[in-house]
Amino acid sequence: MGRLGGAGIYIHIPFCKQACHYCDFHFSTSLKKKDELVNALVKELELRKDELKNQNVETIYFGGGTPSLLTIDELQFLISEVYKNYQVVEHPEITLEANPDDLSENIIIQLSKSPINRLSIGIQSFFEADLKLMNRAHNAEEAKKCLSLATRYFENISVDLIYGISGLTNENWIKNIDTVLGFNIPHISSYALTVEPKTALDSFIKKGVIDNVDDDLAQEQFHILIEKLEASGFVHYELSNFGKPDYFSKNNSAYWQGKPYLGIGPSAHSFNGNERGWNVRNNSKYIKSLEVNILPIETEVLSLTDKYNEYIMTGLRTVWGVSLEKVERNFGLQYKRYLLEQSEKYINEHLLYIDGDKLLVTKKGKFLSDGIASDLFKINLT
Ligand code: SF4
Repeated sequence: MGRLGGAGIYIHIPFCKQACHYCDFHFSTSLKKKDELVNALVKELELRKDELKNQNVETIYFGGGTPSLLTIDELQFLISEVYKNYQVVEHPEITLEANPDDLSENIIIQLSKSPINRLSIGIQSFFEADLKLMNRAHNAEEAKKCLSLATRYFENISVDLIYGISGLTNENWIKNIDTVLGFNIPHISSYALTVEPKTALDSFIKKGVIDNVDDDLAQEQFHILIEKLEASGFVHYELSNFGKPDYFSKNNSAYWQGKPYLGIGPSAHSFNGNERGWNVRNNSKYIKSLEVNILPIETEVLSLTDKYNEYIMTGLRTVWGVSLEKVERNFGLQYKRYLLEQSEKYINEHLLYIDGDKLLVTKKGKFLSDGIASDLFKINLT
């Protein structure tokens, strides 16, 4: 078992109590098909077991949607199906994404007795106005109560926070960060509020009901976040992720380091090193397909250029950077030369820098790293 490579399993739970205004993930607010969906997830786990037959499962991640809408029994059942069909390492990281309004003390106690050993809690903000603007299902009081309970029973906790919300001042943003720090949380994921097409937020902004997001303010708040968290002992190990040493998300780190993962559930994505796959983004179609033992998945084989682009994108987002030696080894000298040529102007503008073998984003370049990465992409296979 020890000689096998590592892999992750992501299980998408496509249900939410209500739709957050900014969200474009796949979910349904009707829980009518929950039982059928859990059965379909089990079927998919069974049908795909050979895809990881040469790998040890190191991480299991319940994402969504809102996985905390499943009962403990349903979560335990899914975990036991993973163990039944896959080779799981001795101490896997098993994460549950959860919303504060689902985490009563009783539920947290039950979760702490289950194999789940990491909670990722969608707090987003401790201010009522922000929570209302985003249409979150919880209020500020619930957010604080949930953290005070969760930290009693779980050590490995991540909290999600959103910045750049219209009306969120720097002063309140600092208070949000300080509140999380006050609970001694070892991992924080934080994202700028982005306006995705066809979301309620997009339509409110177009109608003038809500102000558009202010990129300059978001950038300021991003830098405040980095400064405060680094001063508190966090490592900014990925663009949106900060962890105390030993608390980096193993699931996400594996993804950024190009390890294979199996995505189970409607809309879930998979990657096996050569192919990317994505399941149908519709609960009924997903269930129906699995009822007749057909995997509702489309796949594409990645070209060398696709793999290079993906490596640049993920590498620049992380503290591990882009290894020039790896680019040459995996993609050839031509790609390395291209990368160095394209990087030159960003190096001159102090947005990128080279440290030994690594190409990395400077502090100044961090907020722009996705845009910089796309400029380093290769378009043609030449
Ligand atoms: S709870 Fe999460 S997945 Fe559900 S609507 Fe809100 S942000 Fe989207």
